[in-house]
Amino acid sequence: MHSSDYIRRLKEGSVADADTPAYEGIYEYARLAAGGAILAAQVCGFSLMRPPGHHAGRSGAALGAYTRGFCYLNNIAIAVKRLNKPTLILDIDGHHGNGTQEIFKGEDDVTYISLHRYPNYPGTGLTSEGNCLNYPLWADCGEEEYLKTLSEALASVKANRFEVVAVSAGFDTYRGDLASLNLTEDSYRKIGMLIGSLNKPTFFVLEGGYRGEELGRSIHNLIKGFEENEAQ
Ligand SMILES: [Zn+2]
Repeated sequence: MHSSDYIRRLKEGSVADADTPAYEGIYEYARLAAGGAILAAQVCGFSLMRPPGHHAGRSGAALGAYTRGFCYLNNIAIAVKRLNKPTLILDIDGHHGNGTQEIFKGEDDVTYISLHRYPNYPGTGLTSEGNCLNYPLWADCGEEEYLKTLSEALASVKANRFEVVAVSAGFDTYRGDLASLNLTEDSYRKIGMLIGSLNKPTFFVLEGGYRGEELGRSIHNLIKGFEENEAQ
């Protein structure tokens, strides 16, 4: 997981970059967000906590990225490690989860799937590597292309390999957001349905999504779509 040196520097407020300042008390806020992810994993819930986490690698910025992209502790990675079950991590944030890949690459029990806009921050995730399956998408590719790619990605992994689905739920793929793939509020309902169709114990951890007006509805739609399909 995170190195003890990184945790120490985070705690003392000596680790900062342009995206990810050493705000006062940030270590405690980051711990609360990590705790929210752990709880979500225990109850198959949705952690609505910030700061997000998927760019945070073992010792901070991951895989050569220059910043930690608003992330301090890798919430979903902490929750998955704690759960200690064969897990599919599905990262639907519009940015590649370089931190999550760094932490889980080469781990037999975990498969990581990420759909993300490329090229874009953090510059990683162009190709798949071992258990980390990356699906780079063009800017504003749109819902049809997105759903087709997500279906292919989910079909490519054997469901009997994992017991749990952990979703890095980012919404900055929304039209006009930081990693826009031109998705709409309704797109998240359809994404939720695809996730529900896996029929596995599932939990969600909030990552990005920066359009305050639409974010709540997008989250609501994702959960609604998931529950609709899960019930079938
Ligand atoms: Zn993002």
